[in-house]
Amino acid sequence: MRYCFEVTQTTDVVIVGAGVSGLRVAELLCESQVDCVVLEARDRVGGRLFSTDQGIDLGASWFWDNEPDVIAVNRQNAAEAFDQYIDGNMMFQVPGRIERLDGNPIGVPSKRIVGGMQTLAQGIFRRLPAGVVHVSTPVGAIDFDEHGVTVSTEGEAWRANRVVFALPPATALNLIEITPELPDHLVSVARKTPVWMGAVTKVVAVYQEPFWRNDSLAGSAMSHVGPMREIHDLSDPNTNFGALFGFSREPVNEVTAIAQLTAIFGPQAASPLEVMIKDWSKEKYTSPPGVFQLNDYHLFGSETLRSPHLDCRLYFTSTETALDAPGHIQGALSAAARSASALVGARL
Ligand SMILES: Cc1cc2nc3c(=O)[nH]c(=O)nc-3n(C[C@H](O)[C@H](O)[C@H](O)COP(=O)(O)OP(=O)(O)OC[C@H]3O[C@@H](n4cnc5c(N)ncnc54)[C@H](O)[C@@H]3O)c2cc1C
Repeated sequence: MRYCFEVTQTTDVVIVGAGVSGLRVAELLCESQVDCVVLEARDRVGGRLFSTDQGIDLGASWFWDNEPDVIAVNRQNAAEAFDQYIDGNMMFQVPGRIERLDGNPIGVPSKRIVGGMQTLAQGIFRRLPAGVVHVSTPVGAIDFDEHGVTVSTEGEAWRANRVVFALPPATALNLIEITPELPDHLVSVARKTPVWMGAVTKVVAVYQEPFWRNDSLAGSAMSHVGPMREIHDLSDPNTNFGALFGFSREPVNEVTAIAQLTAIFGPQAASPLEVMIKDWSKEKYTSPPGVFQLNDYHLFGSETLRSPHLDCRLYFTSTETALDAPGHIQGALSAAARSASALVGARL
């Protein structure tokens, strides 16, 4: 939809998206005294970092010891991390058979954050000056001209020198009308770049306690049956509640999810306190239509997406643009550092 409003506000850099990459660009720009705003479509910050009030992650949940930018932001946030529970044995489900394996081959050591991973984004948000982040402000149109760029939302227009797409490239091109048309090669790469986890449904079943641990099970499972193909423990760090979560790329509902968990983990799995299902393919501010068909992961971190365009007026900065850990939170943060450094170095 094309919006047309009088320009009401001006800034140097407009950042589209208050996921972790957009927030981090804003933080780094503010530290270098570059004027910027972040326009966010949803009514919350964090994007694919999304946690319930109980700290249950319906988006990303893990980070790893080899991710320096995540560790640095956690330190700045004074976040409390804890180890993903991986002790015990894993279950394996194939048609007609369920086995218990010795050990937990899919239990890679990783860490979670007390309060949930969205607190990482909220921590950056809290350090930004008031007025930098505007939530519930979806960008619908962007017009580049020889003097700068006009960014239009549902209610107003911003005039700026540069714009940063801190959302998946394919999602940006689906939601935002851009004039003049971007170069063909850029459009082709952006439209074909997959959205990391954009085709995935995350299912979380919450229990009174992590009962599987009493049976020396890690709470992890691989399945060739489905609907969940990979399952892990997502319990509260102090075991105030137990939780199992699974990833699915096929239709899944509460009944089919509980049936699978019961088949794998026994009758105690049949009575969860709650089941939460988050289908990221249906989130229009994450995934474009046809997200299931985007499979060319070689495009992650491509030079086309890492380079500025339109005489340094347009930058791409989501995790999909990173060379380092593309897809991960680390990728989003390292992409943010790359873009911020280029923006600071090339003031217009
Ligand atoms: C289910 C799931 C599990 C995951 N697990 C892990 C994990 O364990 N560890 C890990 O490291 N990573 C994981 N990830 C990936 C991780 O979440 C992402 O790498 C990271 O959050 C991406 O951040 P981003 O800022 O690049 O993009 P996003 O978080 O997608 O941020 C983009 C922002 O742009 C906004 N936006 C979209 N359209 C517009 C518009 N028109 N106008 C304004 N704003 C707009 C969106 O609302 C969003 O806030 C997982 C992701 C999912 C979905």
